[in-house]
Amino acid sequence: MSEVVLPPVIRDVPGQEQAAGFLARALANPYHAYVFAGPEGSGKRLGMRAFAAALLCARGGCGECRDCRLALGERHPNMLVLEPGGPDILVGKDAGDPNTARWFASRAYLTPPEPGRKVMVVLQADRLRVEAADVLLKVIEEPPTDTVFLLLSARPDDLTDTIRSRCQEVSFPPLSEEFVVGTLVTEGHGEQRARLACRLAGGNLGRARRLAADDRQLAAFREDALAAARQAFQGPAGALSAAETLTSAAKQFRARLGEELEEDLQPFLDERGRPEEPFRGVVRRLEEQHERRLRRAEREFLDWSLLSLAAYWRDAVLVSTGGDPGLVINLDQDVRTEVPGDGTPSSAARAWGEVEEARADLADETNLNARLILERLFLRLSELRPVS
Ligand SMILES: [Zn+2]
Repeated sequence: MSEVVLPPVIRDVPGQEQAAGFLARALANPYHAYVFAGPEGSGKRLGMRAFAAALLCARGGCGECRDCRLALGERHPNMLVLEPGGPDILVGKDAGDPNTARWFASRAYLTPPEPGRKVMVVLQADRLRVEAADVLLKVIEEPPTDTVFLLLSARPDDLTDTIRSRCQEVSFPPLSEEFVVGTLVTEGHGEQRARLACRLAGGNLGRARRLAADDRQLAAFREDALAAARQAFQGPAGALSAAETLTSAAKQFRARLGEELEEDLQPFLDERGRPEEPFRGVVRRLEEQHERRLRRAEREFLDWSLLSLAAYWRDAVLVSTGGDPGLVINLDQDVRTEVPGDGTPSSAARAWGEVEEARADLADETNLNARLILERLFLRLSELRPVS
């Protein structure tokens, strides 16, 4: 196969040479629908943005023009993005029901706001309900001209066969730890810090990069969680205040995030704070996205905190049973002295299990009361304290 020259935007997609090469070749004569398949953190969303930019840019993805910049930020007027508003993507009442399959499909045959192609994106496409998938299927079967559909999924096997068979699949395998660490090191971080951020982020490059760049974040989740666990080990009263500590840390996180999101909107507003005409659709979508992120923010914070807590006990089990020290997550700390508990592998393993159970409960959005889940977790942990 002949060497393909990657457009700048696609060259910037990290660690996915195969997918990048495939997309660069596809640009000359794009198919009408693709599935970008790969686990969280493998870069499929970056790939989608880059491909959209290359499709919308007059120079095929220069990375510098207005079209590129807007597409890379998912703010191009000719890009339409559908994503789950709740647990699933619903079919919707009619075309006026925003962020539903009917709303999305109804826009497929409209002339785009600006001359050129349209790019229609479905995030977390495996969460399309059956009826919603049927509506989408009809559009993909009779594709509108100059429109490219990009479906993203971490669980492509959950897509209906009828949709999947009408799309070309681009696969984004997980990034290796060495790749993530190497990337952070070239970006100027020390090796140990890069590896710590990578492991705390579970190999997700975007999250690892944010953690490595921000001392407060790198430390915050772990420290809040560890402080709470220590409180819990002082007994039942400590356990209840531990739940309180983490809940209020989560509230503060939500408030900070709210401020950041407000700033995000500024470039698209006029001096009276109203959206500028060409960006009305974009601003509405951003506002909806912000609402959803804020709604999830507290649970997200709690999940990260509990994940780092689980990592401590996992490390403790590993170290106390003579496991490979190279596999420790919290590389910068001595887990034998940092981890609360009596230091036996069995109590560390039980604590780890309790934390994972609480994470599963938190992930179930029908469990409305996060605070209760934390109280139960810390009360159980308080029972693991050494008898003195
Ligand atoms: Zn460009």
